[in-house]
Amino acid sequence: MRKVQAPRGTFDVLPDDADAREAVEREARRVLEGAGYRRIETPTFEATELFARGVGEATDIVRKEMFTFEDQGGRSMTLRPEGTAPVCRAYVEHGMHKLAQPVRLWYLSSFYRHEAPQAGRYRQFWQVGAEAIGSDDPAVDAETVVLLADLLDALNTHGVRLRISSLGTPETRAAYREELQAHLRAHEDDLPRDVRDRIDLNPLRAFDSAEAAPVMREAPKLLDRLTPEDAEHFAEVRRLLEAADVPHEVDPTLVRGLDYYTRTVFEFESTELGAQSGVGGGGRYDRLVELIGGPATPGCGWAAGVERILLAADRPPVAPPPVDLYVAFTDDAQRAAALKLAGEARRAGLRAQMELAGRSLKGQFKQADRVGARFVAVLGGGDTELKDMESGEQRTVAGESVVREVLRGRGIG
Ligand code: AMP
Repeated sequence: MRKVQAPRGTFDVLPDDADAREAVEREARRVLEGAGYRRIETPTFEATELFARGVGEATDIVRKEMFTFEDQGGRSMTLRPEGTAPVCRAYVEHGMHKLAQPVRLWYLSSFYRHEAPQAGRYRQFWQVGAEAIGSDDPAVDAETVVLLADLLDALNTHGVRLRISSLGTPETRAAYREELQAHLRAHEDDLPRDVRDRIDLNPLRAFDSAEAAPVMREAPKLLDRLTPEDAEHFAEVRRLLEAADVPHEVDPTLVRGLDYYTRTVFEFESTELGAQSGVGGGGRYDRLVELIGGPATPGCGWAAGVERILLAADRPPVAPPPVDLYVAFTDDAQRAAALKLAGEARRAGLRAQMELAGRSLKGQFKQADRVGARFVAVLGGGDTELKDMESGEQRTVAGESVVREVLRGRGIG
């Protein structure tokens, strides 16, 4: 029969990959919980409306990348393409505005986007993300950036570069948008088709197009159109980043693919990643909570791709943890005793494996060697033979003292 395969753009996390991913989770927890963030997990799917309203109808994500389905009750549902809108929904739904602000939350979850798969771009991928909701203080923007810089650093992510900009308020952006549209229309002949097609719907995305670069160099920049308050906010974020020794580059062409951003936006890239160079990014979203039906509440946060971090990071080969005890036995009558001994050893804090494949005694020693077992206990009905695989020494010990002997041998007992 034809083999059933994983869907295109998805991947299996195999045991050899799991350790490195756990390191990302461990470091994320250490960095973020150290700064007062607490873990949140939201559902894998949400009402489609959350993303349509939150992320924005005109964005690529909502227009063509969502996995949307109808549930049995005829309601439109979508596999989450990003984490900020769901976290804001949870903030509103659980009345978190009553807590001390800003409420700081982090997540490590899977996300789904129907994109053309390539290295570093998948249809199911994982993001670690952090959101600080309830304060418009520029220190929030700066601190979130510092936290992502620290996380990437702790994970040895190579070739990292930080770009930062400000998008101002939606009102400033609306006026600027018209100005930009006029510029794009004036140069329509020099623009690639996909940019031309988006002049009405999403003109800011033209900054993402390499082919449009010559036209965009001459384009008016949103950064030059900020209100004095927004310009001051951005200047303070930059001052704080400088004080914190976070190197960054102001890039007025930086636009992000989600509509909810206001004021600060930033993106970390790595030179190790080729075409899909974004490691993580985020910014401020002062209107999002309101857009999804909550009280006016500012917020700021980021998300970083776990797979991209791992692609750009040093990954020392991780040896599986050593096995303390391998329980071998000479005939099947000893199987139950082996199961019992392995269980006792584990409950005492040892890593113990038992023979599970009916190997000969020689084969069992070979297997014990393969898994790097320090001790092998051979059950033969009477007393147990306990072999120290490091020294080669073998002794006969009473069944009930095997665990104690191994604990002592491992320096635990
Ligand atoms: P975004 O939510 O688009 O700002 O993405 C944040 C980060 O998630 C990016 O910098 C990437 O590291 C990662 N990411 C986004 N889309 C994908 C994808 N399709 N496959 C793998 N990682 C992704």
